[in-house]
Amino acid sequence: MKWIALIDIGLWLGLIFAACLLAGCSQPETPSPSPPQPESRPAPAEFDVAKALARYQPVQLECDFKSLKPDELKTIGWLIQACREVDEIFWRQVHPRNVELRDALARQEDARSKKLYEYLLINYGPFDRLNHDEPFFGTARKPLGAGFYPEDMTRAEFQEWVRAHPDQAAAFKSNFTVIRREGGQLAAVPYGREYRDFLVPAAEALRQAAKTTRNVSLRKYLELRARDLLGGDYFESDLAWMDLDGTPIEIVVGPYEVYEDKLVGYKAAFEALVAVRDPEASRRLSLYARHLPELERQLPVPERYRTHPRGTSSPISVVDQIYSAGDLRAGVQTSAFNLPNDERVRQAKGSKKVMLKNIMAAKFKAALLPIAGRVLEPDQLPRVGFGPFFDHVLSHELSHGMGPGKLVIEGRETTVGAELRDLYPAIEEAKADTLGLWVQLRLMDGKVIPENRPALFATYLAGIFRSVRFGVAEAHGLGTMMQYNYLKQMGAIRYDLKTGRYAVVPERMAPGVEALARELLLIEATADYDSARAFIRANGAMPPEVRLTLETLADIPTDIRPIFPALPTAD
Ligand code: ZN
Repeated sequence: MKWIALIDIGLWLGLIFAACLLAGCSQPETPSPSPPQPESRPAPAEFDVAKALARYQPVQLECDFKSLKPDELKTIGWLIQACREVDEIFWRQVHPRNVELRDALARQEDARSKKLYEYLLINYGPFDRLNHDEPFFGTARKPLGAGFYPEDMTRAEFQEWVRAHPDQAAAFKSNFTVIRREGGQLAAVPYGREYRDFLVPAAEALRQAAKTTRNVSLRKYLELRARDLLGGDYFESDLAWMDLDGTPIEIVVGPYEVYEDKLVGYKAAFEALVAVRDPEASRRLSLYARHLPELERQLPVPERYRTHPRGTSSPISVVDQIYSAGDLRAGVQTSAFNLPNDERVRQAKGSKKVMLKNIMAAKFKAALLPIAGRVLEPDQLPRVGFGPFFDHVLSHELSHGMGPGKLVIEGRETTVGAELRDLYPAIEEAKADTLGLWVQLRLMDGKVIPENRPALFATYLAGIFRSVRFGVAEAHGLGTMMQYNYLKQMGAIRYDLKTGRYAVVPERMAPGVEALARELLLIEATADYDSARAFIRANGAMPPEVRLTLETLADIPTDIRPIFPALPTAD
């Protein structure tokens, strides 16, 4: 197949660049754009595509459309149309020849190619997102700059160009331009021009959606967004997004996250999402929020650490996803996000956390339930449920806003995050999990929510194994590992060596949770790096029994592949 030869050039350049990274070249190197010679190289070992596909369990997303009015369904129809256009942009952002690759594979008739094509659609390209972007089709490596930069451009060349052309620096570093070679020169091309073929119809679909909605804030947002998609400055429409009010419809459309750009980390990937608010969950949230000030006063830390000035608040919106596209749909599914990223908008209006309830439910069904079935003692299993899982997630999110945030240390204004640096994410995630449990227990004590300890504990215990499955190198995994070790030491979790199964010791849980919350809150309140490190050293290692258990979970799906709900016809 001819495209394999084509992408071998990419591989060759990728290797040069990887070697450069390993050698730690940070000095500018002279750009050497002499064309590389493709070399023949053996095809990768046979990729087990069936096994790879099995890691993504297809799940039909649930969504209740009953409360939506006919005009709202029409609006949603147009919004999905806009999402589809944005999806095509993301395909082009992942790799310069991604669409050619996709279309070439789509034409193949054999069974293996069909499976590879399916996997390519999940990954938005021939690079395995669950395995460090290893190519699973062809041998070329993914360029670090994805499709945002010329494929042969190095980081050094980018930096050198910006240094030599200070007047172009802002455009080159912009989140919303791609870098192209034009007549021997590098040029920063605005997204509005580069992706015009898709942005014009996307903007048109948004304008049509604006015409169908009766909600003033949504109409204003859609009209501004349509303009900004082509104009390239998203500030005003991002502000309008924060002001969305009184509509069940949640929409995200535009370039946001920069993780796809591993060359310099400037370029934002397009993503889109249409969702509807979950009124029941919103009621639950406001119930929790009403009790937060009182809970904050009861936090298990010495009095002087209890009141803390915090920055702008982050409203939480709980929704069911109807459709997603681009960056949001690639690989592992996002179950919550916080937008917009623009600091100017965050200063003016804060940011909004959107939690995707039906995605969480799908992940719960595909991974957490089967894990619970293998790790918990049989009597604990019937207690595991999505309700307690979601309640804990909600209180986890609210708990991020509790406890120490801004601090004054020796007259110096600072934050917990700035002081704990690299250790902060794991400590903060452990704190949010633990306080999440603590909040639930307090609300049960106060009869604000129904008593449901056995379900909360069993679901939490099973969730530990879901979180540490992918290792303790990442903040959530490490944060969870610390909770397990600490609570086990407190006698709140028990492991049966004979059966290899786990259970909670109910009467030990509440004191264990309280003690752990106290430790973590104290680390944050004193913002002491050394005590954070000591705590992580003492509690962060994966014990042998957990390692053994995780080996038995290898065949349980890693994530889901969403099947979107069918939209009822508006008429
Ligand atoms: Zn968190």
